[in-house]
Amino acid sequence: MRVLIVAKTRMGGGACIGAITEQGESVRLIPSNAEPHDGANREYEVGTLWEIAAKPATALIPPHYENIIVSEKQHLLTVTELESAIELLMPPKIGHPRELYEGLLQKTGSGALYIAKQRGIPPYSTTFWRPDKELTRDTEGRRVRYRYPTDDGGCTLTFVGFEEPLETIPADTLVRVSLAQWWKPTDRQDDEERCRAQISGWFLAAEKPIGEPSQSRFSAPVGETSQSQRPRDDMPAPQTPRQFLKRVFGHDDFRPLQEEIITHILKQRDALIVLPTGGGKSLCYQLPALIFEGVSVVVSPLISLMQDQVMQLQQRGIPAAFLNSTLNYDAYVDTMRQVKRGEIKLLYVAPETLVRHEILLMLDAAHVACLAIDEAHCISQWGHDFRPEYRQLVSVRERFPNAVCVAMTATATPRVQADITQLLRLQAENLFIASFDRQNLFIAVEPKVELLRQTLAFLNAHHGESGIIYCQTKKQVASLCHNLGTYGMKALPYHADLDSNTRAQHQDAFINSDIRVIIATIAFGMGIDKPDVRFVLHAGLPKEPESYYQEIGRAGRDGQRADCLLLFSYGDVDTIHHFIDEGAPSERTGRIERLNTLVNWATSPACRRKELLAYFGEQYEQANCGTCDNCLRAHEERINLTMPAQKFLSCVYRTGELFGGSHLISVLRGSRAKKVLGNGHDKLSTYGIGMEYSAAQWNYLIQQFIQQKLLVRDAQHGSLRLTEKGWAVLRSEEPFLGFSVEM
Ligand code: ADP
Ligand code: MG
Ligand code: ZN
Repeated sequence: MRVLIVAKTRMGGGACIGAITEQGESVRLIPSNAEPHDGANREYEVGTLWEIAAKPATALIPPHYENIIVSEKQHLLTVTELESAIELLMPPKIGHPRELYEGLLQKTGSGALYIAKQRGIPPYSTTFWRPDKELTRDTEGRRVRYRYPTDDGGCTLTFVGFEEPLETIPADTLVRVSLAQWWKPTDRQDDEERCRAQISGWFLAAEKPIGEPSQSRFSAPVGETSQSQRPRDDMPAPQTPRQFLKRVFGHDDFRPLQEEIITHILKQRDALIVLPTGGGKSLCYQLPALIFEGVSVVVSPLISLMQDQVMQLQQRGIPAAFLNSTLNYDAYVDTMRQVKRGEIKLLYVAPETLVRHEILLMLDAAHVACLAIDEAHCISQWGHDFRPEYRQLVSVRERFPNAVCVAMTATATPRVQADITQLLRLQAENLFIASFDRQNLFIAVEPKVELLRQTLAFLNAHHGESGIIYCQTKKQVASLCHNLGTYGMKALPYHADLDSNTRAQHQDAFINSDIRVIIATIAFGMGIDKPDVRFVLHAGLPKEPESYYQEIGRAGRDGQRADCLLLFSYGDVDTIHHFIDEGAPSERTGRIERLNTLVNWATSPACRRKELLAYFGEQYEQANCGTCDNCLRAHEERINLTMPAQKFLSCVYRTGELFGGSHLISVLRGSRAKKVLGNGHDKLSTYGIGMEYSAAQWNYLIQQFIQQKLLVRDAQHGSLRLTEKGWAVLRSEEPFLGFSVEM
């Protein structure tokens, strides 16, 4: 059965859920494993449509004939025109409250409306009402009550909803009404039991055109209150962005692009901002927020960071607040009240909070000047961190078309940028991309031949310097740490299996340079700001260009030269394929695509820098960057290596193009390995003809063969196949020129 959630009533610590079916019947939902008012009901939100499997509760206590136990449920969608849906399915009673509940309501001596068994019981609880007169809040007593005026002193209904109580509910507002449980005062056991009618909420925005700033009397005139909240000092209030920068944020100068972006946003133009981590993206919306009239809403997926940001802003005297699931009811309602009154300039919300019905209504009543979306790549399936709840921001954006939309991210490929632009309907000229180029990072890739020997050589070349070695798995971290130790190389491990104390100790030791080298999985590095990291060695392949670039980005923050070496092997590629297969099927295509990009990059002869930057949407103009292995080699003389190339290609051909590099090297080097003998490869004419090169040298040669496209590697089986060009070299139609592999 399909149900539309129309009411959520505050009851003790939990909520009671009112819904209507497609036939317009009122139902109350009870989870199968909990009491009716248990907190388990909390995930239902007003305005959401669910498909549920349900059966009636065994003990039906009238008038709640409608209690049903939900055994299974599936969220279908969030209804945007909720009021219209209600009008259609359960038309509201209009006018005097005697219209409610089939005219069965009576009035106690003090004016409270109730149902009594003797007069008959209505077959439903949740219903709707458009009062013909304004309801006023009764402040006497502990409970919030609303009074409907009548000639005989009025009648009252208790308020049990989740909204912030209003002083008055205007006439003709769509009001939710529901019935409570049977009750009688404990000290008057002879009285008849009563079932009271109560207000469980309202839909104020019904007649207001969507997106227009509200003129509602519930929000204070925008701007006035916020002025008075600004820090008071003897100087006149800041006027220009530069004055705000200095006096409110305490910075002397803008960082690259900040001023341009802020000027642009202040002209009410949308913007997509791609700036590296630490580039100062927050200022780009925080500063305009102080100048705009109204509230700037900031969407951020990280609840923990939200709190820190708000605290920092408050310390600078900026009225900022956040709304997320960590707030208790009182704090939540209090913040909502401040927002409606126009007292908050910057409101941080989690994406799932922002799409809640009461929050959208609150924002309708406030004036939303700006919608800032942090980590905007989360909206794209092609991003490395897709979050489905971000998709719902599209409808929020549509609801507030007059608000300036600012989307921010530190990593977005052109495809992700296009996705963000299209989903949020940003104009093309509103893109601001900072250069991602880090000229002081020397980037190199080498085939991984003997990990330990290569690592030792690299560490010796960086004697006494600080650096990070990244591995693919915790096991690799442990074994590399141990193996280096046997050579007297001190390094500390860092991965998710170590307890948090040990992790913190190792991290501190590295940051304070008590230890030079840390060997880590990707778990290491978030928020590390050590300026003198001189190298990042990748002992294993990262899973995508995004993480690779982020990891090497931790080197050379001081602007001095730092070395980044990736030890590449196809075995590592297979390991990542394995991880991808085990991961979410919906993410496979994107992840495989990003992995392939990284593999192509690692095996390409082109400038490392140019290709990486191109991936992130940036064009690198210079022909030779001078700081990557491929560019440095461009100056190196090429020598004629046709002979070894022919030996290898011939071996590929004679073994049926069915084998990978290491087996082919075994054949060329005359190995007696089982696999060689078992396949009869010791009988081939190419057996043992490549003794002049070591296995490592052959590996460097194979890297060049692949780079120059004499061979392609089958992604699934790892076997090497000859290309047209490979055949041309094998048939001596073309020479093969490459780099010396003398070591
Ligand atoms: P991002 O979100 O781009 O990673 P943040 O907005 O968190 O970066 O800013 C990173 C740090 O830089 C913050 O500590 C911030 O105060 C500081 N910062 C931002 N803009 C400036 C500036 N113009 N001058 C000096 N520091 C700045
Ligand atoms: Mg940020
Ligand atoms: Zn280069």
